[in-house]
Amino acid sequence: MPLSIAHSGLRPVIAIIGNRNAGKSSLLNSITQQSLSIVSDIPGTTTDAVAKAYEMIPAGPVTIYDTAGLDDTGELGALRIQTSKKIINRADIILYVVGKDDSLIETENKLKQLKTTHPKLITVFNYADYFSTTDPRDSLIKKYKGIRISALTGQGIEELRKCIITHLLSSKKEPQLLSGLINSRDTLILITPMDIAAPKGRLIMPQTQTIREALDLNAIVLIIKTEELEPTLSILNISPKLIVTDSQAIKEVAAIVPSDIPLTTFSMLFAHAKGNFSQLLAGVRHINKLKDGSKILIAEGCAHHITCNDIGRVKIPNLLKKYTKKQLDIDFISGQDFPEDITSYDLIIHCGGCILNQQEMQRRLKQAYQQNINITNYGMVISFIQGVLERTATPFNNLSINQEK
Ligand code: SF4
Repeated sequence: MPLSIAHSGLRPVIAIIGNRNAGKSSLLNSITQQSLSIVSDIPGTTTDAVAKAYEMIPAGPVTIYDTAGLDDTGELGALRIQTSKKIINRADIILYVVGKDDSLIETENKLKQLKTTHPKLITVFNYADYFSTTDPRDSLIKKYKGIRISALTGQGIEELRKCIITHLLSSKKEPQLLSGLINSRDTLILITPMDIAAPKGRLIMPQTQTIREALDLNAIVLIIKTEELEPTLSILNISPKLIVTDSQAIKEVAAIVPSDIPLTTFSMLFAHAKGNFSQLLAGVRHINKLKDGSKILIAEGCAHHITCNDIGRVKIPNLLKKYTKKQLDIDFISGQDFPEDITSYDLIIHCGGCILNQQEMQRRLKQAYQQNINITNYGMVISFIQGVLERTATPFNNLSINQEK
């Protein structure tokens, strides 16, 4: 896929991490063969993470992050470490760079800890040129199958690039939205209302991702607005294999679509593909237990301009308040700001997370599970409140449901 159409949320994330002055920025420059990151001997030159989109041929486009040092200090340093941790959380591959002055004991402790959470950890021992005769890090290099490199001379960079490519090619592919639901030549109807919240002149990411996948599956795809649904169904001489609608139109669409035609929402496709469907399905039922003062966190994977009809900020809170008749205390977050402590919440309602990779979505769900907090998603909430949840969940009944915790 050409880089230009590989949205950042679909590209594998490679995070270069390590202490200040380990040579992380030089490594990014060496891998990409460009001078993107400022290289300096002064520790902490990279204060904010630098992201670079890069074509890692033949594995495809990736985003590589050069992060601030894990040993950063001071109040601002602590904030930068927090940012680095968020990148680590969603990284598909971590390159842990060991510098020439790093303590071997501390390095080993960090590696042990990272190994438990990040199976795709590549340890990179920089300054191979500096330790050209004896390298005091040899036993650690052997133990962690590290790669000796010199970001300065380019030694070992080709080996490292090959190792990254092997990891990328062996990685579990991002789950598919439509697999098992439609096949080649099946008719798929996608309903995309063009209301005030729709972006001018384009479709939203969940819709474009679904269209692209349907085309890859050689399906016959009809993309229509809600008003065209009845005339479309009346001219088709075969039943569509599946109808997928924007959640916000589900009530209207469910009233039109005959009960024998499978119907779901874009949000449910993402819940099934990226999340833990049963956890999200169980979470939605917690709506009936909300009381006055219950705390709800509405979480979106991306930051965007808020409109007066915004689904997360306006529509879902209004639906919830109307349905529960309770005074609810609702917080909102977007982008990478998912809090580490979510224990004060009674329910988390997450968007489909189309631009989050599966690693990050699964991490958020796992965190909710470990902190014993109910979590669900936008589409499930809307379907539940509109009384059509059983119908929109039915197409997934016979598919293997993602149960990972
Ligand atoms: S709010 Fe969520 S589902 Fe919507 S575009 Fe952003 S990440 Fe994707």
